[in-house]
Formats: sequence, C-alpha cells, structure tokens
Amino acid sequence: MFKPLLKALATAAFAVSALAAQASVLQPVKVADDIYALVGPLGQRDAANAGDNATFGAIVTPDGVILIDSGATKVGAEHIETALKTITPKPVRWVINTGSQDHRWLGNATFAAQGAKIIALDSTVNVQQANATQEIQGLKMLLGEIAAGTVPMSSPDPLPGNAARLNLGGVDLELRHFGAGHFPGDAVVWLPKQHIAFSGDLVFADRMLGLLDNGSRVDQWAQTFSTFAAALKPKIIVPGHGKPCSLAQAQAQTGDYLDWLVREVQPAAQNMDDLEKTVQRVHAATPEAFRKLDNFENIDKKNINRAYLEFQ
Ligand SMILES: [Zn+2]
Repeated sequence: MFKPLLKALATAAFAVSALAAQASVLQPVKVADDIYALVGPLGQRDAANAGDNATFGAIVTPDGVILIDSGATKVGAEHIETALKTITPKPVRWVINTGSQDHRWLGNATFAAQGAKIIALDSTVNVQQANATQEIQGLKMLLGEIAAGTVPMSSPDPLPGNAARLNLGGVDLELRHFGAGHFPGDAVVWLPKQHIAFSGDLVFADRMLGLLDNGSRVDQWAQTFSTFAAALKPKIIVPGHGKPCSLAQAQAQTGDYLDWLVREVQPAAQNMDDLEKTVQRVHAATPEAFRKLDNFENIDKKNINRAYLEFQ
C-alpha cells in the first residue's frame, strides 16, 4: 500500500527538481524595454545545460518575439522556451542566427516547427551546413542522450550579402557581417534606434574566449572586433557568452585579449621559436586582466598554441 504512494511522491519530487533545474539554466536579464538577454552558464557544455553554455537574446515586439540564436540541441531549445515564458506569453515569430557554432542554431527546428521563420545571412548558413555533421557528433559525445532528437536546420532562404535590414512589429533591426569572428560567417544583430548589439560569438564577456581550428584566425577575429566596435559604437552589447556589457568591457575582455595574442604570438611563430617554450613563456606573462576571466586555466594555453599554429 505504501509502495505506490512512495513511488508517486518520488516521481513528483523528480519532476519538480527537473523543472527547477531546467528553469535555472538560462537567466533572463532585462537590457532595455522589451529587450532581454538569456544568460547561460560560463563553463563547458554538459547534460544540465544541454549545450546552452552561452547567451541568447530576445526582442518582444507587438507581433511576437524575435529570438537571437536558438540553442545547441532540442533540449537546449526547450531551455530557451522555459526562459522566454518568464518574459512574455507571445510566440517566437523569428529566429535570427548570428553564427554557426552549435548553440547559435541547432535549436532552429524546434522553433520552425512552431511556425517561426529562421533568418540568417548566406555566409553564416554556408558555415552551418559545412559544420553540421561534426557538431552533432560532438554533442552526442559530450551530452549522450540529451543530444538525441537534435536535427540541423538552417534558414531555407538565407539573405545575400553582408547586411540586411529587417522589421518586425515596428522594430527596426540590421543583420551584419563584419568579417570572420569566432567562426567564419559570424554576424551581429544591431538595433539602430536603441544602439544595442547582439554580438553572438564575436564578443565573449566574463569568460575567456576560445580559438578553434575552424577556418577563422585570431588576427581576423581581432580585426573584425575592431571594425564592429568602430562601426556601431554600441551602448550595450548582449555578448555570445556572459552577461550584457558595455563596449569598454567587450574591448577589455575580447578585443584586447585578441590583440594581445596577436602581438605576443605572431613574432614567436614567424621567428620559429620552439612551440612549447613559447606557450609556457606567453602563458606565464598573461596579464592579470585576462587571468581573472572564467576558464582562464583551461583555455589560455590552448589559445596561445592555436594562435602559434595559425601564424606558422
Ligand atoms: Zn559560442
């Protein structure tokens, strides 16, 4: 007689704790009226965050929600839906992808199935399609069952060129590609009236950025950041990782770090200095401003190593 009751209680407790865990993956942060960041954890992808170790954006218009980036997996897209429900009952009408890393776009199919239009530049979609198989494999290795049911879906009608003007519900926005960033084809969503940029992975705040062997280069990303900053001078940036920040913080934690890597590593690589000694020397001299960033211990040496190989 007790057993079914205990089982029911245990199931209910599990359901409540699962809901609580899900609700806490992405923290909604109000950036301005009707404009939000959904801030995920700064660490690695894991089953609890379903690959959403990143920051997303939401703009609530009279005609529905514009979601900036869709999460890394089907479950990751559900984490975004859970966070959106705390902001507005309105449906997601548009999903705009700023990039091609898993958490920027692999949740697209979930929102498309609910009627949302998927929007991205041509250059972004090309990289998504080239990387899709590898990204899904990587997620399955890291997340196991949590990655199941994730189906890559890019925008079926990508926008040509490096810039597009869009309007939903009277809200003007621009989608702009300034050059290769964390990935080739990375783009920025810009609100020209509010001077707010959703930078995608062009900007990392609060945590150390990571260089990848993916066709982008540290010197290109440094140049792209500098072009973006000079062209837009945003008042607020919703970064690809971390909390909403000022341009000064983005400069200090992304632009300056990229410039420092170029300055320190390029001469050593061109001089054909020993790779391992260069990594040890440059890492030991990493300025305090970068050492205090999350993930510094895990990533700084890898970045120096990667930059060296790119400059070789
Ligand atoms: Zn990212």
